[in-house]
Amino acid sequence: MRFQLFSLALTGAVCLSASTVSSPDSKLVVTTGLQSGKPIYSVTYDGKPIIMESPLGFVSNIGDFSTGLALAGESTDKVHKSFDQDRIKQSHIDYTANKLTTEYKNAKGQKMSIEWLVSDNDIAFRYLIPAEGDTRSMIIEKEATGYRFPDFTTTFLTPQSHAMIGWKRTKPSYEEPYKPDAAMTEPSMYGHGYTFPALFHVGDNGWALLTETGVDGYFCGSRLSEYTDGMYTIAYPMPEENNGNGSANPAIGLPGATPWRTITVGSTLKPIVETTIPWNVVEPLYAASETVKPGRGTWSWILWQDPSINYDDQIKYIDFAAAMGYENVLVDNWWDTNIGREGIAKLAKYAQSKGVNLLIWYSSSGWWNDIEQGPTNIMSRPIPRKAEMKWLQSLGIKGIKVDFFGGDKQETMRLYEDILSDANDYGISVIFHGCTMPRGWERMYPNYVGSEAVLASENLVFGQNFCDEAAYNATLHPFIRNAAGCMEYGGTVLNHRLNRNNDGGTTRRTTDAFELATAILFQNPVQNFALAPNNLTDAPADAIAFMKAVPTTWDETVFIDGYPGKYVVLARRHADKWYIAGVSAQDQPLKLKLNLPMLQKGDEVTLYAEDGKSPLTAKTLKIKKPEATDITLTDNNGFIIVAPAR
Ligand code: CA
Repeated sequence: MRFQLFSLALTGAVCLSASTVSSPDSKLVVTTGLQSGKPIYSVTYDGKPIIMESPLGFVSNIGDFSTGLALAGESTDKVHKSFDQDRIKQSHIDYTANKLTTEYKNAKGQKMSIEWLVSDNDIAFRYLIPAEGDTRSMIIEKEATGYRFPDFTTTFLTPQSHAMIGWKRTKPSYEEPYKPDAAMTEPSMYGHGYTFPALFHVGDNGWALLTETGVDGYFCGSRLSEYTDGMYTIAYPMPEENNGNGSANPAIGLPGATPWRTITVGSTLKPIVETTIPWNVVEPLYAASETVKPGRGTWSWILWQDPSINYDDQIKYIDFAAAMGYENVLVDNWWDTNIGREGIAKLAKYAQSKGVNLLIWYSSSGWWNDIEQGPTNIMSRPIPRKAEMKWLQSLGIKGIKVDFFGGDKQETMRLYEDILSDANDYGISVIFHGCTMPRGWERMYPNYVGSEAVLASENLVFGQNFCDEAAYNATLHPFIRNAAGCMEYGGTVLNHRLNRNNDGGTTRRTTDAFELATAILFQNPVQNFALAPNNLTDAPADAIAFMKAVPTTWDETVFIDGYPGKYVVLARRHADKWYIAGVSAQDQPLKLKLNLPMLQKGDEVTLYAEDGKSPLTAKTLKIKKPEATDITLTDNNGFIIVAPAR
């Protein structure tokens, strides 16, 4: 590690005492120090600027830690962690980072430290606040933390919505569109900045993905501000979120720390897609009461909607799950009214007789939105919540999906944590919908199995424009949302029309091969696929055979090719098989020469593809040139290569 203390003169600035901390491979360098008493930092990769001098620190109700600071000490260390992790893109992680801690004193003599962890393509940093005097609590009023990219940088961002808008006043819920390659100066759709993760193309200098991790009930979820004075700063929730309930500002007990803010940097998109930084710097918060079983599921609501939440239709979907060899059936909203508790008990028994588990839907609310879909007012408080979970456990039900949260305030983060923690006591896994994005939760909470926090498959039913843009959206997620956490999208539609009888409603634009590829490209340990019972007979036999065998957990994830908003090709390994999947949203056919280092010349592989004229088929091929495998990808189309792993 290179670590040095030096002084340099900066134009228009007072002399800066700066320290640097570099990655083990020396390419990623953070320089941090004080400029006129204000803490600042900058980031370079391969000698090229990624983040220019940007502010650090915060203002709290006990003191100002953003200005008037003096250096009080510095220390360095090395961090190495080696651990197994399920439910994410990779099953084993070796993490090596250089650590720098700078300690500052403000004008009142109060101390604050900034901790930096720099690994080969990832930076994680946070503020540490000691307990001094009699003070044991602190509210952060404003964070100075900023990100100043070079002027030529373009952005791939999704806006924060207004609070208390949308369906039954449930937003914000991380369900806004992205703008690809937008100028930084372009204002966001709502004027409230952007939610994490946020991707930046720093021209020829490289790429950067900003997000945060380690957010639990002891802090709020943060986001990026509007682009102001040439940069983005960390913003806290809007006071209107959660119907105005709960503080918008985070409160921490002292001694305490803020969550880790992370910056993933590369000269290509490979480190962005493959990053594991959200999990490298956090630890499990409790032990799992049961081994979570990731799995595939069917889900009547996605195509048959509310009228299908009845006993007979759920039997059809249980039978369908059993026919697919799937582990789960998700029973969505209104089951309390339309199936009833006795009906659910009978369904659970029937499902178990077929080797299938039920996942049961709940509203999170509560007193912060207008949701009437039942059950409501159960997950919001510990007394009914625990009684409910005890009942679920008595039926052998091992999973719930909790929907319609109310923003990113600390109060809401506490609710996510409370639900997860209680559910664990009853052997229950939890999926969140209508929610925030996960922030290291796959590692922190062993019974956490996914979050929506994306414009998900439900929108295919709600609007034709979403069907028209499905391919474009799919090419964004592996680089942005799904790079930072698991994503419960609920996709892979094989109906051509998105209604019950496959004869009305919106029209799918993508090919079957595209839909199969998204089962690989979209990562979530529990996948509730948008398949329908009729697909057993009306979809291509090879497509159904593929969907019967598709895994939902991965040992490795490798970026092969792509550009967000245009096309993407990834390889994921599950045990002894590689699944190489690609999709395109480009009008013109894309002739790709893929470098597939996991394959060898002569390997026999199965290619799932279609030419747009005849149905999808699986073909056996021999790999001739693993370093230059020809694939032509057309608009709204995709492919999968299944190959042996060694
Ligand atoms: Ca949703």
